Amino acid sequence: MKLSRDRIINLGKLLSDLIFPSNIYCICCGNLIDNSRIYALCDQCLESIHWANGRTCAKCGKVLMETEGRKLLDQIRSGPELCDNCQNNTHYFEQGFTCMQYSSMEREMVHRFKFNGCAYMGDKLGKILLDRILPEHLQLHLVMAVPMHPRNQVKRGYNQSELMAKMVAKGLGVDYNNQVLVRKQYKAPMNKLNAEQRYANVKSSYGLKQNSPKLEHQSILLIDDVYTTGSTVDECSRLLKEAGAEKVYVLTLAAGAN
Ligand SMILES: [Zn+2]
Ligand SMILES: [Zn+2]
Repeated sequence: MKLSRDRIINLGKLLSDLIFPSNIYCICCGNLIDNSRIYALCDQCLESIHWANGRTCAKCGKVLMETEGRKLLDQIRSGPELCDNCQNNTHYFEQGFTCMQYSSMEREMVHRFKFNGCAYMGDKLGKILLDRILPEHLQLHLVMAVPMHPRNQVKRGYNQSELMAKMVAKGLGVDYNNQVLVRKQYKAPMNKLNAEQRYANVKSSYGLKQNSPKLEHQSILLIDDVYTTGSTVDECSRLLKEAGAEKVYVLTLAAGAN
């Protein structure tokens, strides 16, 4: 009997749920927790995570550090507060939002989610994203995820951003759509590249699927795991606008600080 790809994936999920039942271990530190906790985080991690609930860039959502220079600027600044990157660059997306600052413990958590087969973390982290975006009251038509190259996705077994995006879409009552964006080329991971190299890397890496639906008058929420320079979500936003999207908002789990 031939098993379809979906059935194999479902079987894999069932097995992983049996081996790694969700809501038993803290998704950040791995300590035992009771299964009623909303994000599957222990008290200590809930407190230690660098939540992006302070000052953030009005455009991309990056956490803004309280530097001396920034304090001085506060006295003369008028208009929205922007990170260095957004002061000097324009973006194709309307606005970015993030849940936490990408420091070492958040990096470890994202790493576990992506590379340790912990697909079950998608729902928990997706719930964090959902709670971040609900109060923004955005008018949205579709939720999308930054796509992975099919070869990478098969290797990993899932696209971590897609898992979170599906949870967000469900919570918002908006359709999840993976029919538009495509990751065209297999490229090396970007975490060792500088901003210029990243830009060149992403420019040729993403595209629109053939015969993808037109997005006229659509307002889209694009989900990714981490926002670093923003080059990936910016390129995806450019493509979505090319496909006719009216507005693109970006929501990430974690973002670098500035
Ligand atoms: Zn913990
Ligand atoms: Zn910014």
